[in-house]
Amino acid sequence: MEKLAIDGGIPVRNKKISYGKQWIDEEDIEAVREVLQGDFITCGPKVAELERALASLTKARYAISMSSGTAALHCACIAAGIGPGDEVITTPLTFAASANCVLYCGARPVFADVDPETYHIDPESIRAHITERTKAVIAVDFTGQAVKVREIREICDRYHLLFIEDAAHSIGTNYAGEPVGSLADMTCFSFHPVKTVTSGEGGAVTTNREDLYRKLVLAHTHGITHEEAEMEERPEGPWYYEETALGYNYRMTDFQAALLLSQLKKLERFKARRQEIAARYQEAFGKMPELFLQKEMPESDTCRHLYILQLRLDSLNITRRQFFDAMSAENVQCQVHYIPVYWFPYYRKLGYKRGLCPCAEKIYQEILSIPLYPRMSDGDVEDVIRAVTKILENTRKGTR
Ligand SMILES: *Cc1c(COP(=O)(O)O)cnc(C)c1O
Repeated sequence: MEKLAIDGGIPVRNKKISYGKQWIDEEDIEAVREVLQGDFITCGPKVAELERALASLTKARYAISMSSGTAALHCACIAAGIGPGDEVITTPLTFAASANCVLYCGARPVFADVDPETYHIDPESIRAHITERTKAVIAVDFTGQAVKVREIREICDRYHLLFIEDAAHSIGTNYAGEPVGSLADMTCFSFHPVKTVTSGEGGAVTTNREDLYRKLVLAHTHGITHEEAEMEERPEGPWYYEETALGYNYRMTDFQAALLLSQLKKLERFKARRQEIAARYQEAFGKMPELFLQKEMPESDTCRHLYILQLRLDSLNITRRQFFDAMSAENVQCQVHYIPVYWFPYYRKLGYKRGLCPCAEKIYQEILSIPLYPRMSDGDVEDVIRAVTKILENTRKGTR
């Protein structure tokens, strides 16, 4: 048996590999340079072009670019009319922003548990948490796989809730043949560098509803309108504009939009490579009895953002922490997605207690995300597989 690097053995590779990484090429850099040398570095033609491209890609009627995925979620909550006294149901197995956006509006996030096989918010648990205060559901396409859209849509229609999809992981994914972005009432994207395509910081909301579109536009630019039809007062002159709602400055710049437009050209290629790597991992890990892998849903043609290993700890002599550290010693840097949101001290102080969502909590304690990004070479992928295999061989019960 090969000795583990953490026990003084030779690591599977010399250079550290991280769990995710952007891929910026010369074409991307040139696209940004052109904008920086032009007249508009913000609120110019590239933002408008990007919004048309996103609408066309997602088959949504409207797309509004945002300064981040978090801003997108905040604006979606504003457009949904969420305020003090309201409740919004979401998952704890997500980045904090999926729930923070509800707090920004003075409302209360309510955490529904996840399905133990898909890791997605469980429609049954959504149903169990609906009260007369519930206004919306924020469902997260965790790891890039689309949530159970049909079931969630039915629940939302039945109880008159807005369906907000947090698609920070899932640009490029299709559900039942339709692109993510056209399915929920509002879909929120993130273009942070670890996500599939990036604008540095950035985000977007897509929607098919004109009323929501108008509110999203106002929310992301100070609540200010230049459209006479939307004004309450008569314009005093050509300079006149009106603040009709309280909004923010959540706009994307034109050079970010240019970067993202250039990145979007590569989305299909990135998706294919991500799928290829995920398939190789599936082949290598699918039959290992010490591992559980997220169940793949046939309805979702997934642009895979994260690849997660769930350890069957009762078959191993090590903890998740020790596994994580052993991977680091082999020079494979993993990460954990995610700490249940309500475990954070800030949420604890708001009154949320551990034990709320047993399934999500159990998953959190057993998972880690291994490297997955399109620029990984086949050799990198094999290194990751060798590291996992080596650690399992050394630590399965009965070996030490
Ligand atoms: C990244 C992420 C966000 C936030 O996006 P930012 O662009 O970083 O603000 C929200 N939800 C999920 C699930 C994410 O992964």
